[in-house]
Amino acid sequence: MKVGYVYDPIYLKHDTGGHVENAGRLEAIISHLEQTGLKQQLTLIKPRPASAEEIALVHDKQYISHIQEAAQRGGGWLDADTVTSPDSYQAAIYAAGGVIKATEMVMDGEVNSAFALVRPPGHHALAYQAMGFCLFNNVAIAAKYALAKYKLERIMIIDFDVHHGNGTQETFYDDPQVLYLSTHEYPFYPGTGGTGETGSGAGEGTTVNIPLPAGCGDNEYLSVFEQIATPVAKRFNPGLILVSAGYDTHWADGLALMQVSVSGFARMVAIIKGLADELCSGHLVFTLEGGYNLNALAASVNATCAVLMGNSEIEDPLGPPSRDFGIPDITRLIESIKGIHNLA
Ligand SMILES: [Zn+2]
Repeated sequence: MKVGYVYDPIYLKHDTGGHVENAGRLEAIISHLEQTGLKQQLTLIKPRPASAEEIALVHDKQYISHIQEAAQRGGGWLDADTVTSPDSYQAAIYAAGGVIKATEMVMDGEVNSAFALVRPPGHHALAYQAMGFCLFNNVAIAAKYALAKYKLERIMIIDFDVHHGNGTQETFYDDPQVLYLSTHEYPFYPGTGGTGETGSGAGEGTTVNIPLPAGCGDNEYLSVFEQIATPVAKRFNPGLILVSAGYDTHWADGLALMQVSVSGFARMVAIIKGLADELCSGHLVFTLEGGYNLNALAASVNATCAVLMGNSEIEDPLGPPSRDFGIPDITRLIESIKGIHNLA
């Protein structure tokens, strides 16, 4: 298997100071991939900047100028938790362009699958608004780009970040060509992602929300991936699967209360890869969203790339959760979501 990874030092120049979403995240990932020897087996994909026209597939033109001008003025806070620096606009257009480039490499058959190791992340960014550490919605821009360039009829976006990707959902809420499926802690930031949010108009049914109570771990996530994500994907039959890969779902992450382990992520990724292999010639692109415990993040990205490479032996240096939470019973929630989406 030829697996690509997008990386460029430009992503380190989005300088957020002491913020949890900082350049150290990518540095930790790259250094861990080097240590495990996996980096040498992956194919480096050099990103390009997304053009203003490409970013405008999702974002308002005035908003794009606003982000550019904010950076030119030296940066600053865009909302209560999103900060920029002089190079943030440049990093952001390379982040969007990085996911586009990864998608091109996969669709053109240059690599079997790819992981865009980019920042700033994207899934909270709205057409007119930066939000939750995100400037441009990288995965949404790549999906719009791929629909147009490759004349795809359907794309599925799977988002396992611990937060709901409200920006991605909103971008495609009435779009029948893009199915957005999200697992997230709920109720939690940003507040959206209830089971009743299923899309509107022609897009009714192509938004699938799986809001999970705090404390869910590998078994709960695997049940959801087997019982909901798998039949949804098979029925939708996408030509490409994009993944908003957020590793703040890991038990060691300080931002949320989920209990997924590195091994759990590996098993979820194996299910997603299986779906891509079965449904869309393996066309599969991951993009980095959250993940703030550096050891958990680096090991989880390493495990993800290893599964994409076809390795069956996964290193989980952090092991299973050490915190003692009650395990929530999500049987009824799964049944309810299967009912809402008419899954047998
Ligand atoms: Zn997140």
